[in-house]
Amino acid sequence: MATARDVDVPSLVSAAREGNPRAVARLISLVEDAHPALREVMAALAPATGRAHVVGLTGAPGVGKSTTTNALVAAYRARGQRVGVLAVDPSSPFSGGALLGDRIRMSEHAADPEVFIRSMASRGHLGGLSWAAPQALRVLDAAGCDVVLLETVGVGQSEVEVARAADTTVVLVAPGMGDGIQAAKAGILEVADVLAVNKADRADAARTTRDLRHMVAMAERDEQGWRTPVVRMVATSGEGVTDLVEAVDEHRVALGPEGLRARRRRRAAGEVEALALEALRARVAALPGEHRLDALAAEVVDGRTDPWAAADRLVAELG
Ligand code: GDP
Repeated sequence: MATARDVDVPSLVSAAREGNPRAVARLISLVEDAHPALREVMAALAPATGRAHVVGLTGAPGVGKSTTTNALVAAYRARGQRVGVLAVDPSSPFSGGALLGDRIRMSEHAADPEVFIRSMASRGHLGGLSWAAPQALRVLDAAGCDVVLLETVGVGQSEVEVARAADTTVVLVAPGMGDGIQAAKAGILEVADVLAVNKADRADAARTTRDLRHMVAMAERDEQGWRTPVVRMVATSGEGVTDLVEAVDEHRVALGPEGLRARRRRRAAGEVEALALEALRARVAALPGEHRLDALAAEVVDGRTDPWAAADRLVAELG
């Protein structure tokens, strides 16, 4: 069993803060493993966080997220910025490395010491990635990244979960697949701060763009008076990527310090809640007596009590 003492937290944290890629990778692995040293790591990182702008990238599989991430990394690097990429698969219970692969298309940036790329799966965490992704973001933030791209990988991902973790959420749509109407149905328009119609080299891209612009024009502006722009791009050639970068910049300006704080409060609330629920689960498991939850469940099955009363007793026993 791993213990907090297995890890030399102060030296790892100071190396990560200097931007040492191995230290950054190790810290993110600790997050993935829910390692006991995380408590100390997060306490040490806390004062160094809050600088990176977190850009969420989401959309249906095949829409061009990883190609776009790649193009965005190049664009931010051209501005001299340090970039982190966190590819998460909220749906996968499997170990990260194998399933998500090493993101071969990112390899053109792999040797760049100013680019940190990590993929992460939930590894069967209770609460999925709801606390793990924000903590991996903290690591990348503390490592001095100006921008962190948070990309969802895999099928059935929850756009909403990713949107909750980002400062700016970009939703990618491609003509002919998840087109405008489907996007609206899936509720992704609500989470999009920026809509990008990728694969604009396709014939039906103009129609998809028009439909989305029409839908956006009918929607209410958000609290900051922001109206979701619809950007057209071709991620494979890089066409339109500058427009996407500009739209993200403009959203950040529109958010302002207050809007940004509100987003981050929401992210931290999700994180704190997930950790607290996990702590509660651990306390339920540690209640005296053999499998307290099982015993209560048996009473419910036998009709000796009802689930509400059983839950009340469980909560009362937690004190
Ligand atoms: P993801 O599953 O959302 O990450 O999508 P990928 O980035 O892996 O892209 C899926 C496929 O679409 C790949 O074969 C890409 O080369 C291709 N693709 C991505 N962007 C474009 C584009 O702008 N135009 C065209 N024609 N193909 C693209």
